[in-house]
Amino acid sequence: MLWSGWGDPALARELPEQVRALLRDFLGVRAPDVPAVGLESVRLPPVALPGPLLGALAEVVGPAYVLTSHEARVRHTRGKSTPDLLRMRAGDGSAAPDAVVLPGSHEEVAELLRLCSAERVAVVPFGGGTSVVGGLTASGSGFAGVIALDLGRLDRLRSVDLESLVAAFEPGVRAPEAERLLAPYGLTLGHFPQSFEYATLGGFAAARSSGQASAGYGRFDDMVVGLTVATPTGTLDLGRAPKSAAGPDLRQLMLGSEGAFGVITSLRLRVRRAPGERRYEGWRFGTFAEGTAAVRALAQEGPLPAVLRLSDETETMIGLAKPDTIGSGGAGCLLIAGYESPPASTAKSPSPGLPASASGGVPPVDGQAAPGWGSVTARRSGAAAVLARMGGEPLGTEPGEAWERGRYSAPYLRDSLLAAGATVETLETAGFWANLPRLYDAVRLALAGALGSPLVMCHISHVYESGASLYFTVVTAQEGDPVGQWERAKEAVNAAIVEAGGTITHHHGVGRDHRDAYAAELGPVGVSILQAIKARLDPAGILNPGALIPPPTT
Ligand SMILES: Cc1cc2nc3c(=O)[nH]c(=O)nc-3n(C[C@H](O)[C@H](O)[C@H](O)COP(=O)(O)OP(=O)(O)OC[C@H]3O[C@@H](n4cnc5c(N)ncnc54)[C@H](O)[C@@H]3O)c2cc1C
Repeated sequence: MLWSGWGDPALARELPEQVRALLRDFLGVRAPDVPAVGLESVRLPPVALPGPLLGALAEVVGPAYVLTSHEARVRHTRGKSTPDLLRMRAGDGSAAPDAVVLPGSHEEVAELLRLCSAERVAVVPFGGGTSVVGGLTASGSGFAGVIALDLGRLDRLRSVDLESLVAAFEPGVRAPEAERLLAPYGLTLGHFPQSFEYATLGGFAAARSSGQASAGYGRFDDMVVGLTVATPTGTLDLGRAPKSAAGPDLRQLMLGSEGAFGVITSLRLRVRRAPGERRYEGWRFGTFAEGTAAVRALAQEGPLPAVLRLSDETETMIGLAKPDTIGSGGAGCLLIAGYESPPASTAKSPSPGLPASASGGVPPVDGQAAPGWGSVTARRSGAAAVLARMGGEPLGTEPGEAWERGRYSAPYLRDSLLAAGATVETLETAGFWANLPRLYDAVRLALAGALGSPLVMCHISHVYESGASLYFTVVTAQEGDPVGQWERAKEAVNAAIVEAGGTITHHHGVGRDHRDAYAAELGPVGVSILQAIKARLDPAGILNPGALIPPPTT
């Protein structure tokens, strides 16, 4: 992973000429005066943790797994939001942890939490490092120091229960590795966020992630049936059955807890049969309102495709819905529908040497990803009838295939845009169908008020019977202080979302960037409940201080 940007540097993307012209002529983008610094020039504070404390950490995990090198600290500084990257490109490593600690087991995590509580060391759980909401920026104020607790060594598939279709994983498994480990069983998680290449299963659960195929496979929090969580006051082992009436579901308390209540050390996840058949296609609608009505009809009447996303007029025109052909978009609004279905018989016995449940064996029901999925043909013809009835024009498979090829490309484009002098950032919210137009207008208005004439694109990509999420991409010319410029815009948008009755985040999480708006969303009683839980599980307040939980008012 590029330390100051996204992904594999070998996959860096040049800006197409049409995009350069658009940036120059319509947004007034000019190359920044100061180029990005090199890794070795990032300014870090001195290591605050005293030697004996570093030694005590090393006694728990082994000396090889306590890192204080310049590079390790830089690579664990902040996450991957645009302000994070702008700060890193400017050489600002002021939020660096003092040390990176890599535990190898649940017991080591639990021991580290005990030690850090006793010694007042702040602990920031670190999965893939892809947070875009300031979820990895701990405040070291009032602590002896800060460690990044990198869960990368906890990277195993522990078991597969083929009867229940449940797989137990450690939290540091990255999404592509999870798919690779499930493939021999003919299974998939079906979780494909745009951060797929680097994010981890623990991070997905901790931040309530949602993937691009959420219409078919559900959000990540829908997939979690069990969790083990180490907290400074003990271990929670949650999830004896998929659903239960035994009081409030504490799994829900840990999902979205963003490292502030404990460290997820194991996850039991619902898995599905891997698809053998796929078809991704495009539809055009005259306006975003018409397309939204069609998406709502699918969400409420079915049948739902696995992937369902609708770009507004601007996103369609720019072509961001198909990042590998950016700059060549069309008119109207592009809808992408992706259908997936497992082959008629996909059940596999695990190969020798693969972990399986005690029962193991071949599952009883073949060839059905989830009840009611049916074949691609059947599902597509049902959905196509709805889309045509709602005014859609079929565009064939080319737009769908272009979207699929480019589905992980946009973050690479962001790096080129930043280097060219444009700020590009994404933000998201969700609301009920009846309130979605108001929410859409409120966000666009707030961005225009804060940034002048930015380019604002939007799509709907996660749908429910009662509502949907709106995902915005914003491009604007960088000012002298691009971080301050974006922070002002973000503050205005957060206020507009709260005011317009939306939720402050549908899937990015709260971190630091959404904490105040989250408090407004919860109200004072809700906030006091969170604070009480935090005080019970983490009395010394060492876990991810400053993130998620609004501080008590004095
Ligand atoms: C380019 C890009 C595209 C993205 N696209 C999507 C998308 O399509 N959908 C989506 O949902 N999100 C997306 N995100 C956001 C991000 O990938 C998700 O929030 C993801 O869930 C974070 O996973 P991670 O492993 O990187 O966690 P991290 O970023 O390392 O951590 C996220 C938070 O969880 C905590 N945490 C991590 N692991 C644990 C653990 N084991 N126990 C307790 N706490 C833990 C951290 O302390 C932090 O607060 C995107 C981000 C980027 C940069």
